[in-house]
Amino acid sequence: MVTRNFGFSLSRVRLHASWLAAPSASHDTDGFGLYDIEIVDGRIGSIVPAAADVRRAENDMAGRIVSPCFTDCHTHLDKGHIWPRRANPDGTFMGALESVGEDRVAHWSAVDVEARMEFGLKCAWAHGTRAVRTHLDSISPQDAISWPVFEAMRERWAGRIELQGACLLGIEGVRDADWFATLASRVAAAGGMLGAVAYMVPDLDALLDRIFAAAIEHGLDLDFHADETGDVDARALRHIADAAARHGFEGQILVGHCCSLARQPDDEVLATLDAVAAQTISVVSLPLCNLYLQDRRTDGTTPRWRGVTLLHEMAARGINVAVASDNTRDPFYAYGDLDMLEVYRMATRICHFDHPVGDWPKTVFANPAAAMGLDAAHGRIAVGEPADLILYEGRSWTELLSRPEANRMVIRNGALIDRTIPAYDELDHLME
Ligand SMILES: [Zn+2]
Repeated sequence: MVTRNFGFSLSRVRLHASWLAAPSASHDTDGFGLYDIEIVDGRIGSIVPAAADVRRAENDMAGRIVSPCFTDCHTHLDKGHIWPRRANPDGTFMGALESVGEDRVAHWSAVDVEARMEFGLKCAWAHGTRAVRTHLDSISPQDAISWPVFEAMRERWAGRIELQGACLLGIEGVRDADWFATLASRVAAAGGMLGAVAYMVPDLDALLDRIFAAAIEHGLDLDFHADETGDVDARALRHIADAAARHGFEGQILVGHCCSLARQPDDEVLATLDAVAAQTISVVSLPLCNLYLQDRRTDGTTPRWRGVTLLHEMAARGINVAVASDNTRDPFYAYGDLDMLEVYRMATRICHFDHPVGDWPKTVFANPAAAMGLDAAHGRIAVGEPADLILYEGRSWTELLSRPEANRMVIRNGALIDRTIPAYDELDHLME
């Protein structure tokens, strides 16, 4: 059906209004309109309203949904798939932190990190993702091992997946000013993002100041993990917003998790969200990982909250919000395959991305692309842009989100890709 450099059409497909630069058909209450798409030389040639009652002889898709390709703005490719050799002993956050730390020291050679990153990118590619940001554990000596691997992987995947990297370390690591300055230079040399896990340490503001100053010095965007806990006293998000204001920071800031916000008193929450909305801060929720780790109980009782942050309140304030994969088959999350449709399907249930659906579909397309500073072609379907599209079997939200859509078709630059997902046994040799 599809050949590069040869025009073809996708007739009578359903497109969501939030995926279009300029909707021109009539859209139903779920946001879908019926269109004909022409693809010319790998790019979108035209998008025109389709006649609902006219079946075309060629490439009639009978109302199947077509979306842009996904953007996954928060992953940990360097941790991925270590579960067989390093499980989480009790499903807790501390269990995850300690298990990953032990595994990193014991096993994370360049060969090991590269093989698992490659596996993860193959999964993301097969599921229809075109841009990925990964965090990279960067405490010494892992920084010297993982950043060159990241640079090689970014080069290898260029043109297929746009790969970004952010350094990751507990913010207490920033206290060593000389070492942190060296790390910031290394990250800048790699074109990465500066990041840290912002815990409520006594000198949090001073450490944030050091991070913001380094980001400004090197012209880097920022990416934080914050408040990944149900502890109501965790308020790092507010401290990050205040630091951004103090420094007049003009780059992109992406903050992940912000779970504890959902446990705090309303007046405090609203003040924090006002502070966030006043800065160029995007928030990414990681619903699958949050559901797994948050409110994890080791006394045999049942979790009582979902663990996710206040996405509805954020979106209502105009804060750019996204959802993403986070961990895959490592002690922070025992499952996952970097399938952003699974993330969106689960986010719809966990975060209530329905009644109405509204602009929530942007949370895996245009919103994460904006948070990553990518150009507008990412996350939308527009004339003149590369024909990077996903064609589903579903014709409505209830059909799309009820099945895994394992038979979805992924079109990149106007050509169907091979969607073969890597077999688990490809990594068996690393799990001994
Ligand atoms: Zn994370």
